[in-house]
Amino acid sequence: MTPSRTLRLALASVLLFPVASPIAADASDTRLVVQITVDGLRGDLLSRYGRSFGPDGFRRLTEQGVWYTDAHHQHANTETIVGHATLATGAHPSEHGMVGNSWYNRADGRLGYNIEDPDQALLPVPGFEGEGDQLDPTQAAAESNGRSPANLLASTFGDELIKSNNGLSKVIAASGKDRSAVAMAGHSGKAFWMSVATGAYESSTFYYDEYPDWVTAWNADRPADVAIATEWRLADPLDSYLLAANDDRPYETDLKGFGRTFPHRYGAPEDGLYYTQVVVSPLGDQLTASFGKAAVLGEDLGKDDAVDILSLSFSGVDAINHFFGPSSLENEEVVRVLDRTLADLFAFLDQEVGRDHVLYVLSSDHGMPEMPEFMADHGHDTARNGHTALAEDLNAEVAAAFGVEDAIKAFFRPYIYLDHEAIAAAGGDQRAIERLIVDSLAARPGIAMAMPSEPFPEQRGDFLEGPIRRNFHPARSGDIYVVQSPYSFLLDPGAIAVMHGSPWRYDTHVPILFAGPGIEAKQVSRQVATVDVAVTLSAIFGTTMPSGASGKVLSEVLR
Ligand SMILES: [Zn+2]
Repeated sequence: MTPSRTLRLALASVLLFPVASPIAADASDTRLVVQITVDGLRGDLLSRYGRSFGPDGFRRLTEQGVWYTDAHHQHANTETIVGHATLATGAHPSEHGMVGNSWYNRADGRLGYNIEDPDQALLPVPGFEGEGDQLDPTQAAAESNGRSPANLLASTFGDELIKSNNGLSKVIAASGKDRSAVAMAGHSGKAFWMSVATGAYESSTFYYDEYPDWVTAWNADRPADVAIATEWRLADPLDSYLLAANDDRPYETDLKGFGRTFPHRYGAPEDGLYYTQVVVSPLGDQLTASFGKAAVLGEDLGKDDAVDILSLSFSGVDAINHFFGPSSLENEEVVRVLDRTLADLFAFLDQEVGRDHVLYVLSSDHGMPEMPEFMADHGHDTARNGHTALAEDLNAEVAAAFGVEDAIKAFFRPYIYLDHEAIAAAGGDQRAIERLIVDSLAARPGIAMAMPSEPFPEQRGDFLEGPIRRNFHPARSGDIYVVQSPYSFLLDPGAIAVMHGSPWRYDTHVPILFAGPGIEAKQVSRQVATVDVAVTLSAIFGTTMPSGASGKVLSEVLR
């Protein structure tokens, strides 16, 4: 279809059906948008594992949809909240404000968690009490259990869709991670996430005063408990895996008895880590899919002409990458099982909503590096740096050179926050201190460069200047952005053995797939951006563009 015909049809539908929600011609049959985000699914993994996929999972999207094979996040800090917010809003962090999983809050002098909101407490699921260990170092920064999208400064496609038809559309988001669900639900949708304390899929008072019956009923079956005291075993014979030899590598993490090799042994809830182990296995993704199905039935998603959104973010690939690495046997297994989980979900949606009524969108919030030691085995120079130790070193250097004590107030990757008041009180020159820190960091193994908010002259035009600027929000970003060398690690030592978050290609590269009514199969190799996803959805359904969106319409999807 030519653009002009699309436009004519779109105009015709506006004139004939002024309150109908879909106005783009190719969207007229769509009743449900299923937005799938596979956390940490680096852009090459669908190709790497393609031969092992069945016909009805990922391949239904890659072979029957438009597959963008060179899609990238264009911001520097490729972390989970940043990527999800970008996919949801079509905006960069400079506009949507989610500059990192955590940022230092100068007003109250502490590190905060991106979606933390003390005024919107967790809504307890009746019958679920308990505490679990939190291995996620950024989530652990939260001081309250309240969660909301208050810190998300831009509107999402879902927000605009709901507004476009005065609230007829519904947006439901679910994930193993709170921040993923909250970002995708936007300001107007409903978010659910799995509690690593209880295994329940929960929400906060921002979304509900009390849970809908279908949520209580789904949780009452305690589906997350199915693996207590069992083992995670490979689904297929070992020789069917490309990475069969990569099970036992010394730099993988043994999660408190979960083990470094198959079979991995699940503990019990009273051990404190059981529900974390559930997320670090294919079971977490199966639970998210199951909860999504319950939402379709419970909320009648896709049952009428007002387009609804079901946004599911699968956390298993990312969790496994952090502990075992993206070239581990565990990674191949979790992607393979997710392929089957998706096939099952698609069959359910065919049945409940109808194959011709569902538009699928799939992408990821970031990619993933290989482990530094794995890359060293492959001939690369890599190093591990912890930001706390770096901050202590740098503070000592600044004190020696300028007589300013504790000039660095906080360093949580990627940002260094300087103590402006202390520097001024000691008569220090902030620009000179920035120069010292930038030069000192650049000379260290494992650090590629550091860039102040106002780059030094020789840094202008650098490959990384654009991504760092697009990540900058004046109230939340720090004074100096630190970039590790490719495949080097920058995070305090802990259970997490490998960390994404760099502006390097393995972290920015993700798949983008659109499949559904009116979309013709095509593989597209031109470079596109994750900010294009929400903009394209808005164009398909003729909504107001999300407020901070800067992406472009993906022309192969709209034709
Ligand atoms: Zn992530």
